[in-house]
Amino acid sequence: MIRCVVVDIEGTTSSTWFVQDTLYPYSRRHFARYLAEHHQRPDVAAMIDHVRRLAGEPDADLGRVEWWLNQWLDGDQKVTPLKAFQGWIWSEGFAAGELTSHFFDDALPAMRRWHAAGLELDIFSSGSVNAQRAWFGNTPEGSILDLITHHFDTENTGPKREAESYRTIAAAVGQPPAAIVFLSDLVAELDAAREAGLQTVGVRRAGDEHYDRGVGDHPSITSFDQLDLTGAVVSAR
Ligand SMILES: [Mg+2]
Repeated sequence: MIRCVVVDIEGTTSSTWFVQDTLYPYSRRHFARYLAEHHQRPDVAAMIDHVRRLAGEPDADLGRVEWWLNQWLDGDQKVTPLKAFQGWIWSEGFAAGELTSHFFDDALPAMRRWHAAGLELDIFSSGSVNAQRAWFGNTPEGSILDLITHHFDTENTGPKREAESYRTIAAAVGQPPAAIVFLSDLVAELDAAREAGLQTVGVRRAGDEHYDRGVGDHPSITSFDQLDLTGAVVSAR
């Protein structure tokens, strides 16, 4: 029996373009202010040091740290300090009502349905746990955090394209890998999950960033409504 569904966010539950066109510019507008206001907070100070280490510039001032964050943002580099600052800044923006997360029309109803059917719902995203909590806590329908058991990110779990990360997820869920279904728009992530023994389904959202690449030989759906999770093996309706 399938016991657990693990979903990717960008290109799966939600539009990649919303993240790039709305969230990325929002973080860019707030880096300097956030650094100025919070640089003495221990977790922020540690992340500033992390920027300096990655940049190889131990004496970088806050302006230079902001410059590096913007560089990584421009290159869409998923480095830890960038993710951390974005998570903090987006959390503030969501809490202030300046941001509301985006979901494809079928996503929220399906996640509610799976939860109501007794399935565990987990997230695996390169967005930090903070960013994930802000995202699912501020949907157009309010918070759905109560539907979600685990928030996996690259910090607490590992890279999304390595099988070991999915073994870590299966261990945290406490179920055999074959009882877990992973949904993503990226074939490299699906391959890694399958290598770890999870069931996989490729999600194809027309017009999204990676749509044209397809999902290889994984079963594929264009809407969560097509997913049948009632058998031992996931299938598309
Ligand atoms: Mg994705």
